[in-house]
Amino acid sequence: MKYVVVLGDGMPDYPLEELGGKTPLEYAHTPKMDKLAKQGEIGMVRTVPQGMPAGSDVANLSIMGYDPARYYTGRSPIEAVAMGVELAEDDVAFRCNLVTLSDEEPYQKKTMTDYSAGEISTPEAGRILADIDRRFGNDIFNFFAGISYRHLMVWRNGPDPTKFKLTPPHDIAEKNIAFYLPQGKNSEVLLEFMEKSGAFLSEHPVNKERLARGLRPANSIWLWGEGKKPRLDSFREKYGLEGTVISAVDLIKGLGILAGLEAADLPGVTGTINTDFKGKALRALKELQDGKDFIFIHVEAPDEAGHQGELETKIKAIEEIDAKVVGEVLRGLEDFPEYGIMVLADHPTPLSLRTHTAEPVPFCIYKNGAPEKKPQAGFQKYFQGGSRGKNQSGFQRSWGSFQGNHRNGFQTSFQGERRDRDGFSEAFASAGGIYLEEGYRLMDYFLGR
Ligand SMILES: [Zn+2]
Repeated sequence: MKYVVVLGDGMPDYPLEELGGKTPLEYAHTPKMDKLAKQGEIGMVRTVPQGMPAGSDVANLSIMGYDPARYYTGRSPIEAVAMGVELAEDDVAFRCNLVTLSDEEPYQKKTMTDYSAGEISTPEAGRILADIDRRFGNDIFNFFAGISYRHLMVWRNGPDPTKFKLTPPHDIAEKNIAFYLPQGKNSEVLLEFMEKSGAFLSEHPVNKERLARGLRPANSIWLWGEGKKPRLDSFREKYGLEGTVISAVDLIKGLGILAGLEAADLPGVTGTINTDFKGKALRALKELQDGKDFIFIHVEAPDEAGHQGELETKIKAIEEIDAKVVGEVLRGLEDFPEYGIMVLADHPTPLSLRTHTAEPVPFCIYKNGAPEKKPQAGFQKYFQGGSRGKNQSGFQRSWGSFQGNHRNGFQTSFQGERRDRDGFSEAFASAGGIYLEEGYRLMDYFLGR
């Protein structure tokens, strides 16, 4: 049996007036997904557990079959894995942003002008990180250059990362940093790095060049996203499957590697609307031909459009995923006697909010040769009996609270007359009746375990 997951990052949204009360997913022309939704099983799944941050890291961990409440240890260690940086059991990784702070002195008086240092280029950042590592690095602290403003610091044999209280810099735009500086046990070490980096970087030639060109300087590092390397049971151990992750994004590649999957390097994938959609599908099929059993295709483009607030781009991204990823994958899967495909999103990225929400997302699962299922049947059976019997009650309870929750966001589209009942959309998936509160169990279900 061959399995393919197609994940459109941030696809779900709210009904929009411009679209006659439809969501982008409802409005977009998506005949392939609609057919799968009609012939397979459809439902809603909560990928971000209540009380956890609505990040792609948490959501994709769920979707890959790992309970974030148990396995999530922070963003940075996942990125470190994708960057090829080895982390020992007691090493603590930190995201090391290059940021732009305002000019006030002393350090505490500054405000966060830009969490991305004017989206500094990777070559410029590489020069800066190399100099920072030369100046501040030693046997205990190492700095590694990543992409643009996103870098890494590792504290070898570091202290318990859960004792730190660190703040993501994109959450404090234009705010005085005094209240958001590192806190908690051992945090003074981190604060000292940040302060000293300020003095060091104000003299750095890259920043002098940037200022001369009217660009924002990378005049401080900002440490956050702390954590130790999570230990995930591999897909091989869990499911007996060999697989590959296909994504432009380090975070997703890192998750895949941690799960014992291969991370494909693909030229032409960019994480934007200009990505090589079809290239991802063709690579997935090649991996299957070469003996892999499981492929996870992640497409960042709809999320990016959501953050930028670009409606047309978001619709286009969804249509491209339908035609060039789902369509191509389905065509190729016909060469295999048995296959399953799951299409879903990780979290909504509503255009009106331009950021993620933690609301449940639609999914659909199609397996060739399987009898057409009434949506309700699948999960009900799955949740009853055996050692998992206790979940039956949790399932029902949370379904009630979910119905309460989603009124806010999805109300207009879910009540009253339904238009595209048979399409792949938030409305149809909600009406379908399947709802899974524990998102990390969806993978078990998809893989029939
Ligand atoms: Zn996003």
